[in-house]
Amino acid sequence: MNSPRDIADLGSQNQASASTHTVRVGRWVFGGRDLPVIAGPCSIESEAHLRETALGVRQSGAALLRGGVYKMRTSPDSFQGIGEPAFQFLAQVKRDLEMPLVSEITDPRQLPLMIDVVDMFQVGSRNMYNYELLKELGQAKKPVLLKRAFAATVDEWLKAADYVLKGHDQVVLCERGIRTFETSTRNTLDLNSVAYLKAHAQLPVIVDPSHGTGRPELITPLAAAAIAAGADGLIVEVHPRPREAKSDAFQAIGFAHFTALVDRCARVAEACDRRLAR
Ligand code: PEP
Ligand code: MN
Repeated sequence: MNSPRDIADLGSQNQASASTHTVRVGRWVFGGRDLPVIAGPCSIESEAHLRETALGVRQSGAALLRGGVYKMRTSPDSFQGIGEPAFQFLAQVKRDLEMPLVSEITDPRQLPLMIDVVDMFQVGSRNMYNYELLKELGQAKKPVLLKRAFAATVDEWLKAADYVLKGHDQVVLCERGIRTFETSTRNTLDLNSVAYLKAHAQLPVIVDPSHGTGRPELITPLAAAAIAAGADGLIVEVHPRPREAKSDAFQAIGFAHFTALVDRCARVAEACDRRLAR
């Protein structure tokens, strides 16, 4: 473990970096030469749904499984995630599939339930400014995937990371697109931030082309572009039957589409002297 001073240097204090700090989740490492791909549903709908999705994405080369138990939805009338009943099957599904789980924590009160089964805590865009949550996650000593708030500057994002870094150094940043005047896509995927962070910070940075574009036909091109820009991994929403997804159905991709994405990204990674972790 680094000293507190070294940890501070990883976040907003860091002015120039030659190397990326590494973050391990299970047997996968973010920030090294190999690029882990996180894939799975926006939200977990049932045990059968999670198993089917996990098997599909693993066969295509995903290293880690994503899936929301608790969802931060813009409308209180939208599906909020299945919540607590998920904890009856999550540990078993993970064991059977041998995939670490990345899942969003939306409230510090969920920590006791999640701590033993979630391998990497996702902090969603809407919670990047929830400093009490970030402080708690610093104390939890488990890897954190910190998404960029959709109107945050890179500096605000790094300062949010500093809150976790006060406690431990297992933080991966996730660019997921920002709000702009553009309406043809859900968000504008800011790949400037990826190249900027690779030049000026040390934390690993991954990219979410699903929320970054909100359009299935743009997900593979932007995933490939993210890797070309230096991203240390990807997180992608995949559903066995995309149109039936209970959240973010409009941007979900199916297994065949995900397989094509992985193949294309593997070739781009190779051209950049890196490779997908699998
Ligand atoms: C998600 O990953 O499903 C999600 C809600 O992402 P974001 O916080 O980036 O909107
Ligand atoms: Mn989603």
